[in-house]
Amino acid sequence: MAALFGGALLLGWLVGVPHGAFTLALIVYLGWHLYNLYRLERWYQRRKKREPPDAAGIWGEAFNHIYQLQRSNRQRKKRLASILSRFNESTAALPDATVVLTRDDCIEWFNKAAKRYLGLQAKQDIGQRIDNLIRHSRFSEFLARGDFSEPLELVSPLDEQRYLSFRVVPYGNKQKLLVVRDISRLKRLERTRSDFVANVSHELRTPLTVVRGYLENMIDGAAHEAKQRAQCLQQMQAQTERMIHLVEDLLMLSRLENEEKMVACSAVAVPAILVALLDDARTLSGKRGHHVTLESDTSVWLKGRERELSSAFSNLIFNAVLYTPNGGHIALRWYRDDENVCFEVQDDGVGIAAQHVHRLTERFYRVDAGRSREYGGTGLGLAIVKHVLDRHEARLEIESQPGRGSLFRCVFTKSVLVERDAPRVL
Ligand code: ADP
Repeated sequence: MAALFGGALLLGWLVGVPHGAFTLALIVYLGWHLYNLYRLERWYQRRKKREPPDAAGIWGEAFNHIYQLQRSNRQRKKRLASILSRFNESTAALPDATVVLTRDDCIEWFNKAAKRYLGLQAKQDIGQRIDNLIRHSRFSEFLARGDFSEPLELVSPLDEQRYLSFRVVPYGNKQKLLVVRDISRLKRLERTRSDFVANVSHELRTPLTVVRGYLENMIDGAAHEAKQRAQCLQQMQAQTERMIHLVEDLLMLSRLENEEKMVACSAVAVPAILVALLDDARTLSGKRGHHVTLESDTSVWLKGRERELSSAFSNLIFNAVLYTPNGGHIALRWYRDDENVCFEVQDDGVGIAAQHVHRLTERFYRVDAGRSREYGGTGLGLAIVKHVLDRHEARLEIESQPGRGSLFRCVFTKSVLVERDAPRVL
C-alpha cells in the first residue's frame, strides 16, 4: 500500500498532477479489493470442490483462515453426524419403546419398539398428542399430574395379554422421554407366586382344620373313651403326615429352584437306585397286589445328582402304584437307544384324559383332587419331576389313555451318559 501510494504521489508530483495520480492509485487499490472480494464470493459458492484462490497480502491470509475454519467445521460436523447416527441407531434398537415428547406432549420422535408396543406410525403420528393415540384415562391423568416418580402399569392398547410399564423422564426444555417396557413376564411371575401361596395355604388349611376339630373334641371331653381317643389320634397323625409330606415336597421344589444348575454332578448308579425303588414300590403296593417289573441296562449310569434323580423316579413309580387299580401291571424300564437314555414307567391304571396331560407338571394340578388327597398326594410330584429333568437337560414325555393306562418317559441326552462295565439286562 505504502509503495503504491508513495510511488503514485512521487510520479504525480514529477508530472505535475499529484491529485490525479493519487486518485488513480486509489482506484487501482479499490479494484484489487473488489476483485479479491469477487474471488472470495466465487470460491465460497464452490467451496466444496476447490482449494482457496491464491492471493497476496491480507487477502491471502484471509482466504487461508477461512479455509482452515471451514475444514475444522466440516470435521466437527462429520463427527457430530456420526455420533447422532450412532445414537439414533442405538435408541432405535432399544428393546423398550422410547418416545420423545415436546412440552405439549406431542410426539417428536420414537423408536421401532414404540411401533410394536404402542402401534405408533411414523408418517401420521409425529406431531400428534400422545394421549390422543394412547387412549386410556389413567394414562391421560398420569401425564397431566406431572408426578413421574412411579411408573404407570397398563394393559397394552394392542394386546390384552401384554402388560406395559410407562415411565416418563423429563429433560431439557420441558421435554419428556416416555419409556415403555413390557412387564408381562413379571406380572405372570407375580400371579404365579400369589397363586402358589394361595394353593399352599389351601393345602395346609384342610389338615389343620381337621386336627383342630379333633383337639377341640378332646378338650371338650367328648372323646373320653379310649377307642374314640385312639381314632382321633390316628386321624391327627394321618393329617400331620400329609402336612409333613407337603412341606417336604415344597422344600424339595425350593431347593431345586435355588440351587445352582448341575453343581456337584457325579456318576449316578441308576440301575441300583431302580432296584431299591422296585422294592419300595412292591412294599407300597402291599396287599393291593400290583405286578411291578423292572428291565434295566446295568451298564448305563448318568452324570447327575443322585438324590434328585431318585426323587424324580420314585415320584413316577409311586404315582403308577397309586393310580393303578389293585392287581394292575407296572413296568419300569431303563435303557439306551441310538440317541437317548430313557427311564420309563408304564402302568395299566386309570389313565389321564388328553386335555389334562399338558398341565400335569404344574404345581398343585390334579386330575382328580379328591382321589389324589385320598392317596396322600400333594399335587407337587410331577412338578418336582419336571424340575429335576430340566436341571439334567432332559424332558418328560407322557402318553396316556383314560381307562387303559399311562406311560411316563424321562428322556436324557447322551451327553449325560456314563458307561459302566459290559451291558447286562436284569
Ligand atoms: P399327586 O400328588 O396328586 O399325585 P402329581 O404331580 O404327582 O401329584 O400328579 C399330578 C396328577 O397327575 C395326579 O393328581 C394324577 O391325577 C395324575 N397322575 C400322575 N401320575 C398318574 C398315573 N400314573 N396315572 C394316572 N394319573 C396320574
